[in-house]
Amino acid sequence: MIDPFGREVSYLRVSVTDRCDFRCTYCMAENMTFLPKKDVLSLEELEAITASFIRKGVKKVRLTGGEPLVRKGIMELINNLGRYIDSGELHELTLTTNGSQLSKYAKDLYAAGVRRINVSVDTLDPHLFTMVTRWGDLSKVLEGLDAAQEAGLKIKINTVAVKGVNDHQLDEMVEWAGGRGMDLTFIETMPMGAIDELRSEKFLSLEEVKKSLSQNWTFQDTDYKTGGPADYVIVQETGQRLGFITPLSHNFCESCNRVRLTCTGMLYMCLGQNDNADLKQVIRSTNGYEKLDAAIDEAIGRKPKGHDFMIDRKNDQKPAVARHMSVTGG
Ligand code: SAM
Ligand code: SF4
Repeated sequence: MIDPFGREVSYLRVSVTDRCDFRCTYCMAENMTFLPKKDVLSLEELEAITASFIRKGVKKVRLTGGEPLVRKGIMELINNLGRYIDSGELHELTLTTNGSQLSKYAKDLYAAGVRRINVSVDTLDPHLFTMVTRWGDLSKVLEGLDAAQEAGLKIKINTVAVKGVNDHQLDEMVEWAGGRGMDLTFIETMPMGAIDELRSEKFLSLEEVKKSLSQNWTFQDTDYKTGGPADYVIVQETGQRLGFITPLSHNFCESCNRVRLTCTGMLYMCLGQNDNADLKQVIRSTNGYEKLDAAIDEAIGRKPKGHDFMIDRKNDQKPAVARHMSVTGG
């Protein structure tokens, strides 16, 4: 699949649920209204749409959410998608998780063909962790990380850098992740969905973070790319990769290879734009694959050149994109 700007679309992110067992302050309001069940694609529908993308050339699928591992029956979907890894049609099946359920699922994920996962951890301070996630328990997540590494899964940690919250602990994160043989990516907050606080007061530029970290660590340039928007360096002291996702300070759209499917079957061609295609309506109104394939082709033909994110005081009350990150899954 080639979009109008000549970019090959080979990466599909699938949000399998909008629900979550955490309520991270930058992601959700404490009182969230979740979608009614009838609006959410069944596991079979999620699989059928993902299979269409694989037929059309998608090589990498990432499951996300909400929290993908709280969706009932999720291993069924993961096992079924794992068959495309066995057949060679899919090169990578992975997920982004908050880690709360990893102790339970790590071995099954490996058995299904998953080899790498992203786990979100913003701080190693248990008290602060509960403040940021509102409902999370750091010790459970750390147990999950142990289980995942024991099962043979490679881990990349995602840390959202938030001013006045975890900005004083980022060195510690580099040391911890490096010491455990895990890559680490810092993420800038993105203006998505209404939350309970002002975003401009919490925005931290990763350019400054990188500068300050480089006083304590030696960064080696690398041209490593995961197909994601992160810019990577290698931390010489730990030998691990360190990534910086800076959607607001830089434009990473030129090399964008991905599209996103929500759990309601809406296909978003860009995380930072509202244009979408309703694949649920297509899959619920036909039996064969032709209409679905045609709807996907039509949508890829509308993939925009880039996003319009902006955080400033004027825009604080009005997020650049009204949907929460938990809808499109980041
Ligand atoms: N629940 C899983 C997790 O937390 O990893 C998967 C879904 S979560 C929406 C995916 C990633 O998006 C997480 O790393 C999270 O920290 C990040 N995220 C959520 N809201 C964000 C925001 N407004 N700006 C930047 N990153 C955000
Ligand atoms: Fe849940 Fe992930 Fe959002 Fe946190 S970032 S509330 S864990 S979906």
